[in-house]
Amino acid sequence: MSLLAPAQAALRDDVPAYTAALDRWLAEGPSALRAAARPIASYERRVDAMSELMAALYDAGWSRFGWPEHLGGHGGSIVHRGAMWYLLARHGVPSMAVFEHFEVLAPTLAALGPPEFVAEALPAFLRGRETWAQGFSEPDAGSDLALLRTRAVEAGDGYRITGRKIWTSWARYATWCLVLARTGSTESRHRGLTAFAVDLRAPGVDVRPIIQANGTDELAEVTFDDVHVPADRVVGDLDGGWTVAMHILSHERGTYAWFRQCFLYRDLVEHVPSSPGVGDRAAGDALLDLAAVSATSSAALRLHAAGATLGPRATITKLLLCNAEQSIQDLVLAGDGDLAAGRQDDEVAVLRQDYLFSRIVTIYGGSQQIQLDTIAKQLLALP
Ligand SMILES: Cc1cc2nc3c(=O)[nH]c(=O)nc-3n(C[C@H](O)[C@H](O)[C@H](O)COP(=O)(O)OP(=O)(O)OC[C@H]3O[C@@H](n4cnc5c(N)ncnc54)[C@H](O)[C@@H]3O)c2cc1C
Repeated sequence: MSLLAPAQAALRDDVPAYTAALDRWLAEGPSALRAAARPIASYERRVDAMSELMAALYDAGWSRFGWPEHLGGHGGSIVHRGAMWYLLARHGVPSMAVFEHFEVLAPTLAALGPPEFVAEALPAFLRGRETWAQGFSEPDAGSDLALLRTRAVEAGDGYRITGRKIWTSWARYATWCLVLARTGSTESRHRGLTAFAVDLRAPGVDVRPIIQANGTDELAEVTFDDVHVPADRVVGDLDGGWTVAMHILSHERGTYAWFRQCFLYRDLVEHVPSSPGVGDRAAGDALLDLAAVSATSSAALRLHAAGATLGPRATITKLLLCNAEQSIQDLVLAGDGDLAAGRQDDEVAVLRQDYLFSRIVTIYGGSQQIQLDTIAKQLLALP
């Protein structure tokens, strides 16, 4: 099904109508949905299945809502995207996989990226044909990004980037990386940083997967050895990389929680109520943890839809998400003996991956201590 212009305009202006129409389409069970809506332990196969689902959603028009028309979208707001992923989770999709970067990086690319480049890159991403990673952290710069050393030097028609990034999620499966690099002096700290859209297929890029304790290759170390980046791939202003990073963090710590909680809700209702090992009190507490994420993150979606950003308030949503993620996975583990030992099929493997991943959610997007520090200094103005 491809949408006709009047239907497109009606759904753009009416999120409940969009939600109902998409729900009907998903209920018909398109083959790409059936393939993605099952536990897949291998990240390679999971990314493949999700890429096909993204292509189907793009071709039918659904994933284009929530993105501006000049970037290949159908208009509407982030609330459309919130509704789409809510429904995908309800129809059995277990996670966003590499496409979580739609809600971490793409809003910033759309708002601050070079328009001509983004007009090509965003539709390719939405179609599941190209994917993105986020290259901020380095071996000696994580919590304090102002220390980062990857350097971009002007050279002819662009820049040459040299340096090392680490803990780069989904880099093994990504074609592009949003790289934060130093364009100012070493002492310039956060003022001398610039964000670049770097093609991970370019000569001089080396992506080395890091196998995590949960057996997946989501994380990677990425080195850049004199990599040429054309001048029109600067995202935001030259030396304005900090603004770009803060825009991304408002989504990564704030609105992303909405998308993640859709999948956590699914884990909770599917695995917990029938488990004899789980008491009502613990299940109720986990549900309340999730309700807190749902309430604050849906407010964040509406704020962003109205053109505002969350700023330091995003830290609160991020902390609530960590809490819910861990309490729900604790319950899943308590209720399923196969998780600790026993069956080795894809379903158990994915549950085990998710449990172990929930132990490190307090680190990505800035550690729990850094979020608490931000709340103390920027929201409570404590000394
Ligand atoms: C699953 C996962 C996915 C990730 N994905 C990405 C990604 O896609 N792209 C990317 O760029 N990075 C990514 N990261 C990296 C992540 O952003 C960093 O690990 C994080 O910011 C912490 O930095 P660090 O590891 O260098 O630890 P450090 O900064 O060395 O911190 C070590 C410890 O010291 C504490 N600490 C540091 N400074 C302070 C302070 N001022 N006050 C109090 N305590 C402090 C920290 O809380 C932490 O406990 C990911 C990490 C994980 C776990």
